[in-house]
Amino acid sequence: MDERPVFWSDQLAFGTRKKFEDEEEYVCASGVSPSGVVHAGNFREIITTDFVVKSLKHQGEDVEFIYSWDDYDRFRKVPEGVPDSFEKHIGKPLVEVPDPQDCHESYAEHYEEKLEKQLEDMQVDINFIRQAEKFKKGEYADLIKKGLEKRSEVKEILDKYRKEPLKEPYYPVHVYCTECGKDFTEVKSWNGSYTLEYHCNECGEQREINFKQEGNVKPPWRIDWPMRWKYEQVNFEPAGKEHSAAGGSRDTGNELSEKIYDKEPPVHQMYEFVTKDGSKISSSEGGVFTLSDLKDIYSPEIIRFLFSETKPNKAFEIPFESEEVIQIYDRFDRYEKDYFEDSRDDKDTRHRERVYEQATVEVPESQPVRIPFKHAAFVAQTVPEEEWVTKGIESLKRTGHLPDSLHEKDKTRVVSRLERAKEWARNYAPEKYVYEINWDGTAQGLNREQQDAVNAMKNQLEDRPFEGSDELDDMLYSVAEQSDLDTGEFFQTAYMALLGRESGPRLSTLIISIGQEQTTQILQKLA
Ligand SMILES: [Zn+2]
Ligand SMILES: [Zn+2]
Repeated sequence: MDERPVFWSDQLAFGTRKKFEDEEEYVCASGVSPSGVVHAGNFREIITTDFVVKSLKHQGEDVEFIYSWDDYDRFRKVPEGVPDSFEKHIGKPLVEVPDPQDCHESYAEHYEEKLEKQLEDMQVDINFIRQAEKFKKGEYADLIKKGLEKRSEVKEILDKYRKEPLKEPYYPVHVYCTECGKDFTEVKSWNGSYTLEYHCNECGEQREINFKQEGNVKPPWRIDWPMRWKYEQVNFEPAGKEHSAAGGSRDTGNELSEKIYDKEPPVHQMYEFVTKDGSKISSSEGGVFTLSDLKDIYSPEIIRFLFSETKPNKAFEIPFESEEVIQIYDRFDRYEKDYFEDSRDDKDTRHRERVYEQATVEVPESQPVRIPFKHAAFVAQTVPEEEWVTKGIESLKRTGHLPDSLHEKDKTRVVSRLERAKEWARNYAPEKYVYEINWDGTAQGLNREQQDAVNAMKNQLEDRPFEGSDELDDMLYSVAEQSDLDTGEFFQTAYMALLGRESGPRLSTLIISIGQEQTTQILQKLA
């Protein structure tokens, strides 16, 4: 096999191929129970898996990415944002609980579809598996039976990590009562094959159930997980910190996988928490933030970039409300520029290239044209949205931020950055990045000297069209010089007149963005 790679997901792919040599198709897995809003932490699991999938492909392998919705899991508690009346469904499988918002077949499907939709433009290619369907069809029946056959070994493995040993007689299954639908049940006996007898403590039902024909039986999580590794022949699956701790479900899973199911456990990677700064994201859904919150201000490739540049075992905070948002965009732009312009072949350069490739997935054929995010935020606020493709693009050309001729694709990229920059400025950005043009020319209480300077500027702008920033700068500095104000005061006055505040972006850029004619009109109103 080739030399050990430099990028983290390439290394994991490399390790996976070493552990499972010559697989015809590699299986990378991930999953969650749809018990509520799927948050950014769960997304980290998905994207971590996806990077390994892409790396395996990069190394020439065939790969399948499966995502298991554990929707036969029990409804454990009513999360925030769901009516208290749902208390009565506790103990049922998530697919049998109704949709709290009444727009889907079930509680499970509501949250499943939400995430599946959010993932559509994230360049992940996933086969979603709804486990409830498989349980109901009896597809796991043989593996459930295997667990029952080896139940004393299962108990021994689990007991090693428990304070209190599991109660005898132990059966590694939960039964959903066929009468009331809940799992407050006890197994009374097992016939050595597919039939169990249970008693329901909720409704009093007692009967035999054939889980190959009827479903309704599910192993507890710690056993369900390795059972799935066997069933799907999983080669790689990451897990969150809580599962990865010593004696956690990953440890017991590995042992159960080997001893009960005779399956080499998949390659593991622990992933850390992701958090966000600030408090502006609504906490109506339990204080978590989701992929769709991220998409408000970050494009899919930037989101992928955030996770590709940080190793999964490192916790990090995603900025929403600080100016670090600008730095992230700038950093991505720099990686992109280097990708196309830097021809060095050292380790560091190769690493950066892989970070970029994993972020974009389909690397553009030629170097994309980008405008800095900070400037995008400014333009997005000063040019009305319906004029972005016309006046916005035009002014960006005149300020030198865009070349004279622009491909359609680049135009789309510029506009999508403007959209996110606007969202950011409107909902999250620090005050100093929030601009509002003084369209109605409200009186600013300018003194005589200031008023004269504003008039002089207006006269110049009325006089003739200015081509670009440099030409405008020359004019502005000469007006400043001829006025009774010192240069600093002159610019402050101009910003007060146009923005109602004492500072702003380069004045010539501001005038071009507003438009020479509109600027003149604002100044006219102040006269
Ligand atoms: Zn719904
Ligand atoms: Zn019952």
